[in-house]
Amino acid sequence: MRGAWIIDQGSTDITSAYRITRRLHEEQTPYQYLEVYESPLFGRMLVLDGAVQTTEADEFIYHEMLAHPALCTHPAPRRVLIVGGGDGGALEETLKHPVERATLVEIDEAVVRASRAYLGAIAGDAFDDPRAEVVIGDGLAYVRETAGRFDVVLVDSTDPEGPAAGLFSAEFYAQIARRLEPGGLLAVQSGSAVYQRDLVTMVRRHLRAAFPVVRTYLAPVLAYPGVVWSFTIASLGPDPRAVAPEEIARRSGAWGLRYYTPAAHRAAFDLPPYLRSALEPEP
Ligand code: SAM
Repeated sequence: MRGAWIIDQGSTDITSAYRITRRLHEEQTPYQYLEVYESPLFGRMLVLDGAVQTTEADEFIYHEMLAHPALCTHPAPRRVLIVGGGDGGALEETLKHPVERATLVEIDEAVVRASRAYLGAIAGDAFDDPRAEVVIGDGLAYVRETAGRFDVVLVDSTDPEGPAAGLFSAEFYAQIARRLEPGGLLAVQSGSAVYQRDLVTMVRRHLRAAFPVVRTYLAPVLAYPGVVWSFTIASLGPDPRAVAPEEIARRSGAWGLRYYTPAAHRAAFDLPPYLRSALEPEP
């Protein structure tokens, strides 16, 4: 098998190497170095500042598990905000729900442009959905300045460096809490559950300062170093661990989802003891 290798430059002390067959695009944007590769194992891959962000082969796991646990916990989400997520994967999953509006705020227009050009399999036709609103801007400023109110907010950001650093702050989460309707929820990607535990515990600490219910859950993101990835839901009301499986099946059972099911929802929140004690120490 010919081809070269790329090494993930993510922010952990472990990495992964990926055989690639060609680079489809590369561009230094005002925010990051953007590359799109083709690989035999993962299909097309979006890489930002050397860190693998998403791949055609496994993006369904990450995006289904970022979006649906919170959207299925909320009784009837109508207005959703997505911060980051310029590849459109979280937007596509959100629009499977009967929402009125999904607003995506992505700081780097190049990510949207390159994703539409080279990674169309990830977003499908989400960007062209009349309910979708794409805003090119800083999510921090947007949340600070918007007069909008949301039922669910998803933060689908790069790791806490550069423009994404503020997206993991207690101040940002408190701002989001003020932009949520009563009973609203926030779901964030909170880093590697095994190699970024300090990040996960920091996210939980910051969320607990603004939300009464904070629940971390896991999903296997196959392309990420260490695979076991964490997401954290913060809720002003409904507890994602209390959602009836029948409700999840009724809401999402007809969408042909490839990872998220009522059983996957329940299992995701059932952390193994060694992680529960590390990530959710008894208060
Ligand atoms: N959805 C992918 C995944 O599976 O993990 C990766 C996430 S998406 C590519 C991360 C996005 O967050 C990037 O496009 C980046 O430009 C964006 N981003 C970083 N900081 C931001 C900010 N302050 N406001 C809005 N978007 C931001």
